[in-house]
Amino acid sequence: MRKPSLYPDRDEGCFICGNPYVELHHIYPSSRRAISDREGATVFLCHEHHQGRRGVHSGDRTLDMWLKRDCQKRWMEREKATEDDFRKVFYASYLEDEDQPAKRFSPGEFGEVPF
Ligand SMILES: [Zn+2]
Ligand SMILES: [Zn+2]
Repeated sequence: MRKPSLYPDRDEGCFICGNPYVELHHIYPSSRRAISDREGATVFLCHEHHQGRRGVHSGDRTLDMWLKRDCQKRWMEREKATEDDFRKVFYASYLEDEDQPAKRFSPGEFGEVPF
């Protein structure tokens, strides 16, 4: 049973910048791709925020880690679940490491990042 996405629909454009030309990104990839699909851990991103220089698949993990953390919070809220519950489903947690670059970001700040 597939759950609805935790993020806005394709019509809303890129989740970060609103660009209407979007690609579907699986927030927890590779071995967890199917789980991401099932749990709605997918988000629409423009090409730049997906595959670009500072996009989620670039060497710069800032946006990637921020999304992994943001998605975990959304999932826990929707499922009324704990961090442990999340770990059982996704085999990791992204909340505990305060040193992750994601910590430095809030959504509004992405507008200032020169992607
Ligand atoms: Zn974008
Ligand atoms: Zn992707």
